Amino acid sequence: MLEEYAENQLTRREKIMKILEESDHFMTVDELAYILEIKGKERRRLYEDITHVAKSVRALSQGRKILVMQPPQCRKCGFVFTNLKKPSKPRRCPKCYSTWIEPPKFKIVKR
Ligand SMILES: [Zn+2]
Repeated sequence: MLEEYAENQLTRREKIMKILEESDHFMTVDELAYILEIKGKERRRLYEDITHVAKSVRALSQGRKILVMQPPQCRKCGFVFTNLKKPSKPRRCPKCYSTWIEPPKFKIVKR
């Protein structure tokens, strides 16, 4: 059971890697969820997956490819969340307290 779970995780991360590498634009987690047919709370796990994918990409390509994140941004005042420790969608803007936040976007690029 546990092994099966691990295998599914791996497959999903491999799919994410392929999608982000072949995409012609930066993608949100919602777009990825749509393609991978992931619904509900599972979507939040995608941020975790992306963190792992970023490490794998770097290792597999020996640093020739990297996963780039366009940081989330407040749609109301334009505040950019540049100080995130890991990928996520902030709930609220620290500057104007708006909850209208443009989510982070991801893509794998060659250096
Ligand atoms: Zn704001």
